[in-house]
Amino acid sequence: MARIGFIGLGNMGLPMAQNLLKAGHAVQGFDVSAAQAAKLTAAGGSAADSIKSAASGAEIVITMLPAGEHVRDVYLGAQGVLAAVGQGTLLIDSSTIDVASARAVAAAAEAKGLAMLDAPVSGGVGGAQAATLTFMVGGSAAAFDRAKPVLEKMGKTIVHAGGAGNGQAAKICNNMILGVSMIAVSEAFVLAEKLGLDAQKLFDISSKSSGQCWSMTSYCPVPGPVPTSPANRDYQAGFTAAMMLKDLKLAQDAAKAVGAKTPLGADAAKIYSQYVEGGEAGCDFSGIIRMVRDA
Ligand code: NAD
Repeated sequence: MARIGFIGLGNMGLPMAQNLLKAGHAVQGFDVSAAQAAKLTAAGGSAADSIKSAASGAEIVITMLPAGEHVRDVYLGAQGVLAAVGQGTLLIDSSTIDVASARAVAAAAEAKGLAMLDAPVSGGVGGAQAATLTFMVGGSAAAFDRAKPVLEKMGKTIVHAGGAGNGQAAKICNNMILGVSMIAVSEAFVLAEKLGLDAQKLFDISSKSSGQCWSMTSYCPVPGPVPTSPANRDYQAGFTAAMMLKDLKLAQDAAKAVGAKTPLGADAAKIYSQYVEGGEAGCDFSGIIRMVRDA
């Protein structure tokens, strides 16, 4: 069993670290919030008082942080991970961040002879708790092979997406599809309402026709057709509108950086931005149908 340093014990990181403990790994965790680190101790891990002490002596360091700036600070800072770890330590960042930061940090690690993977996830807090996350992994094949048995303790589907940054590329491309498709499904259900077509009837037809997609069949934005969707609990998140906006902005930044034209992705970012600014940041992203209806 491995000695693992885990940095960033928030909504996602804490249950992921707890699953590593359950699998028999030794986890030393750090979070700027001491209260979060204390929860790891309660689960059988140990709370480190700095990035350095979480990373020192670890065979693997995993980070689960809010955004690119945090990942750069935590890895590249004078008291950061790269300064603390010994040769042979495998570095895995599971945060959702911009592709450029992921590649920059991986390059800095490589310059020190350290293998690093970007391994963002989908599946949300529920998936983190149940160890059913999907990991999209960028980095070398050798590092991927080493990481896989550990990632399998936190997730169900582990995919090697290519070189450094490709995990992040996969994540933002997937979530751009999700944001656009949720708006499209919402528009269709609102149009159906106004045309006098029952939501369940539209679902019965479209879920078996060419309009079928995950936003409709697994996460339907109207109450009724999919009992587990947040629409049935007043759009309590799930996956918040703020998180969706974050990912859509990352996709737009990446598209600009490489000159890709993504007009629907840009519109989705604008629509979610309006929704979040309207005070719905903490609401589930499928709640966008309420704004579509009111427009
Ligand atoms: P969170 O805000 O709950 O957790 C982040 C944690 O990092 C916090 O506990 C914070 O105190 C800690 N932190 C911040 N800076 C730090 C530092 N310098 N050193 C140590 N700890 C630090 O966020 P989350 O929901 O756990 O999300 C983490 C990442 O996972 C994000 O990049 C997010 O986009 C991604 N993600 C989240 C979800 C979700 O449903 N919550 C789903 C998929 C991906």
